[in-house]
Amino acid sequence: MPNLKGFQFKTYDFSKRLDTKVDLIEVINNTVAKAFRNQPEPVRWIFEPLLQYIDELNYCREHPDKVVYRHFTFAPEMVYAMDCVSFVPEALTFIMPTEYLCALVDEGREMGMPDHWCGFLGGVLAPIMYGRLPQPKAILHCNQPCDNSVAQGTVLAESYPDTEMFILDNPYTDDEAGVQFCAEQLREGFKYLERMTGQKLDLDRFRQVMKNSARAYELIYQINEYKKAVPCPIPTSVILRTTSGAFYGLTGTGGLVQWLEKHLADAKMRYEKGIGGFRQEKLRVVWNLSWPVFDYSVYDWMEEAFGAIAVAYHSAEPFYQPPPDLDYSKASFEVLLRELALRNNNHAMGRQGRGHMMTFVDDSLKWCREFKADAGIFAGHWQCQANWAAAQLTKEKLMEELGIPMLVMVVDQLDPRVVSAEQMASRMEPFLEMVTAKKEGSVQ
Ligand code: SF4
Repeated sequence: MPNLKGFQFKTYDFSKRLDTKVDLIEVINNTVAKAFRNQPEPVRWIFEPLLQYIDELNYCREHPDKVVYRHFTFAPEMVYAMDCVSFVPEALTFIMPTEYLCALVDEGREMGMPDHWCGFLGGVLAPIMYGRLPQPKAILHCNQPCDNSVAQGTVLAESYPDTEMFILDNPYTDDEAGVQFCAEQLREGFKYLERMTGQKLDLDRFRQVMKNSARAYELIYQINEYKKAVPCPIPTSVILRTTSGAFYGLTGTGGLVQWLEKHLADAKMRYEKGIGGFRQEKLRVVWNLSWPVFDYSVYDWMEEAFGAIAVAYHSAEPFYQPPPDLDYSKASFEVLLRELALRNNNHAMGRQGRGHMMTFVDDSLKWCREFKADAGIFAGHWQCQANWAAAQLTKEKLMEELGIPMLVMVVDQLDPRVVSAEQMASRMEPFLEMVTAKKEGSVQ
């Protein structure tokens, strides 16, 4: 029997049917936004990027002429450069209260949505198809990272037949030809946005956005350098989830830069004092694929019960390389397009979901090696078939090259009715006991 040490995970009330025909942005304002604002002072800053994104959702409602739908792995800098606001339907499923998400998934299934359709997309299927979301002036879509999201393009095309779409064909390879292939399409993408919005691109604005973006990547690079220290000076696992959301939605904004500066200062201070996060570090864990977002207390449980600190999370490790030495204030349009192509090709989840599956395996190895992980956890979102294909090979490579084990388990990142937090913890418990014993030397 699992011994979860009396830990109280989040509870849900699925006893009544929720009205899904509501303004979802208002629901988010009245629930999660309030909860983020009411966090205790020492940790409130962690949620600032999520609040920034919710402010953008509200801005969409007030400025319908600026709403550009954007695929979640399409770099947002392009939208900010056009002085528009990016609306990512899937971001609603990431943020909204779990009970609403589950009710919307059920509504989608009643419309004929198959079980294998990812909940991130399925949770907004009905709101898109029934016209409950802000109408787009333009739609930026792309062909990564998975078949589910490619199919989502059809949903958008059928739901907004009067809005022409721009679809980026992400390249298979990561070489210079792949970068140029992407850059040439982005040139056309700007022409498309100019046509759809009636606005001209301001090159200086594009330069400033790319400068903000480069600064954000530089800061996350520096934060990641501190993350290599033992103990890890990142205060809590939850911060990785915010980082993930921030790099999906806010690169190019000054708000993200300010937040990362705060994050870096906190990591630096902890590093210099030789302290870790909120709990004593005993194990270091990398989440090689998804991790659940419906109940952050899973991470509190791991930290409390095993001192198992998450040092990396698949979707929070974007573009992990030193940034270019470039004067953005003088950069030409061509140079900026190339930089933007690099952002798109290296987008978290997109990067590991397209092209050869060894990118996924190699990235997992890199994180585990550089952040000195004792174990990997492949929490496979059950509809994420492309990455599931790499699970066994990743597990073998981690053992072969780094001598560390990887737990493979099925989860639904959003829906606790598939696998609850308690069920996840009961899968992780014997695994983490084994990793602890190995580290302490009581097993080989
Ligand atoms: S890559 Fe996985 S989590 Fe992301 S949209 Fe596709 S199925 Fe969903």
